[in-house]
Amino acid sequence: MTHGSATTHRPDHTATAGGAAVPQERRLRTEIPGPRSRALAERRAAVVAAGVASTLPVYVDRAGGGVVVDVDGNSFIDLGSGIAVTSVGNAAPAVARAVQEQVGRFTHTCFMVTPYEEYVAVCEALARLTPGDHDKRSVLLNSGAEAVENAVKIARRATGRDAVVVLDHAYHGRTNLTMAMTAKAMPYKTGFGPFAGEVYRVPASYPLREPVAISGEEAARRATAVIEKQVGADQVACVVVEPIQGEGGFVVPAAGFLPALERWCREHGVLLVADEIQTGFARTGAMFASDHEGVVPDLVTTAKGIAGGMPLAAVTGRAELMDAVHAGGLGGTYGGNPAACAAALAAIDLYEREDLAGAARRIEALVVPRLKALAERAPQVAEVRGRGAMLAVEITRPGGLEPDPAETTRIARACAAEGVLVLTCGTYGNVLRLLPPLVIGEDLLLEGLDVLERAVLAGA
Ligand code: PMP
Repeated sequence: MTHGSATTHRPDHTATAGGAAVPQERRLRTEIPGPRSRALAERRAAVVAAGVASTLPVYVDRAGGGVVVDVDGNSFIDLGSGIAVTSVGNAAPAVARAVQEQVGRFTHTCFMVTPYEEYVAVCEALARLTPGDHDKRSVLLNSGAEAVENAVKIARRATGRDAVVVLDHAYHGRTNLTMAMTAKAMPYKTGFGPFAGEVYRVPASYPLREPVAISGEEAARRATAVIEKQVGADQVACVVVEPIQGEGGFVVPAAGFLPALERWCREHGVLLVADEIQTGFARTGAMFASDHEGVVPDLVTTAKGIAGGMPLAAVTGRAELMDAVHAGGLGGTYGGNPAACAAALAAIDLYEREDLAGAARRIEALVVPRLKALAERAPQVAEVRGRGAMLAVEITRPGGLEPDPAETTRIARACAAEGVLVLTCGTYGNVLRLLPPLVIGEDLLLEGLDVLERAVLAGA
């Protein structure tokens, strides 16, 4: 099938895994999941904790570029990137080579014991790429949640204040502090309390669900009024925001919301922490989502896309805030592991050299008109939203805003059965989210959209 004209992506960057070619195609060889995946599922049930769930229980044999190939030989179009991680393509050859070269020299020393250049080079890249041209410092960690925890530690130490403000629909992780910061009870919090104290939740900007349309500035005032009345501005160390809310439903705040929050924070000596763990590294069509509105956070958390699939995370912030922490106050055995740093340096080189932010904008230009046309024909599509290659469709009962999580799950399952991996999200579980690798071939992406369209229309 051919679609459109301009080819935006070069398959030579996307077509190998472990040196072997991975055909960039959708191919179904068995029922889903196939016999080998089902056999692995049986072994899993006997030994893997039931609390760890999988969206699509096909077991992976290899993955490359924009496809994931399972142990039964089925090849899925990947519209999830392992939750916004393999933005540079799965097993991107440059990343794989960098990791191989690094682990051949040394696998670990612990940066807190004997340091190495790769860690420093990643921090240099973060200083250059994150919003703002002020002096910056970074600490490297293993996971997004750990980065958020450390951002809060740093904010408290630097301000001498305790309170942490988060938003409705926020997702910041699964550790004790970040569970407290995350909004949704099931499955993230239920039964896991008591949670960390001094975390306060205020209203977000969720344009589709405002009873009366309000501007971004008004939504910010609504939030800061709650802080002033219920917490006290002078008690607040930081306000932590996802510039586009991820797990909460790919909620894009009304224009002006983030800049107004930024201004309020500055006025009150409160630090603005942008959690760019899902939005960062070219995903939204800019290197960071804060860039779209010229917002310059005091601290930025990053993870996911930073290292092409290797576990790495960071907090980057104003030098004087970061350096307010005493020596030994930050760190961890594996934080900034050399293999993960080598992967990050290779991935960051791809983001810049291949202009993957531009690729994300081209994905938006291709996908959004298709989804908007679909919305005209499918009454259960309440809204198409997002930025760059972080796009979503909110599904409701036709004619209103009542969330329809069952229909959302049906659509995602129908896509999987046809060889397309689509994720869901949302406080109400009613959002289909598209997070394709930024290097996905245009034909593959459009074929994935064809499948999604058919799945949606089957329920229209
Ligand atoms: N913050 C945001 C915005 C996220 O999207 C996530 C992960 N979905 C996290 C924090 C937590 O990251 P991790 O799963 O690596 O701990």
